[in-house]
Amino acid sequence: MNMRPRKQQLLRWLPDRLVRTRASAHAGARYLTFDDGPDPEHTPRLLDLLAKHRVHASFFLVGLRAEQHPSLVQRMVDEGHAIGNHSWNHWSFNSLSLQQQMDEFCRTDQLLCQYDSEPQHLLRPPQGYLDARLLLHCARHGRSIVYWSYDSMDYQKPATDALVAGLRAKPPQPGDIVLAHDDSDIAIDALGVLLPEWLAQGHHFRALPRKEP
Ligand SMILES: [Zn+2]
Repeated sequence: MNMRPRKQQLLRWLPDRLVRTRASAHAGARYLTFDDGPDPEHTPRLLDLLAKHRVHASFFLVGLRAEQHPSLVQRMVDEGHAIGNHSWNHWSFNSLSLQQQMDEFCRTDQLLCQYDSEPQHLLRPPQGYLDARLLLHCARHGRSIVYWSYDSMDYQKPATDALVAGLRAKPPQPGDIVLAHDDSDIAIDALGVLLPEWLAQGHHFRALPRKEP
């Protein structure tokens, strides 16, 4: 899901350590991120594709789904991908108190810590919803929220050909954080076509670092 472009523009004015919309463009790196998994049907296909092309990505996981599919989370970590926190239930934060929002993140952090030994993970709220209370809380507690600079729009469920054509015409640039999803095959099918092309053109893809240098 997306949020309004105007809000996205405003977020770019916040410090990188608090809210990231882009990442280091060092050595031409682009950053693929996948939300809403792990999904037992689609995520293995994506992991196979990434492994085939030796590409590392970042997965913003829904805690409840991670709990249901532990072998997929383990595989992500084993294969060098980064795991991030996309809340426990993927409920809209719009209707939750700050305490409930933080409970959603804390429970997911505890689960993910079992895999990567990190007590805290990069945060991405469901639907990108971020109110002033959560923003202030994250600033006070040194938590980083990660958005994106490049929206694949895969959640609009375009035909694969149309998605491929759109992304091919305007490929991600160095430093771009690409938003996609692994709870359907749409982005995975498109990347199956585009990743080999982009890699042949010399593009690099990396997992998001925990902290920007
Ligand atoms: Zn989501």
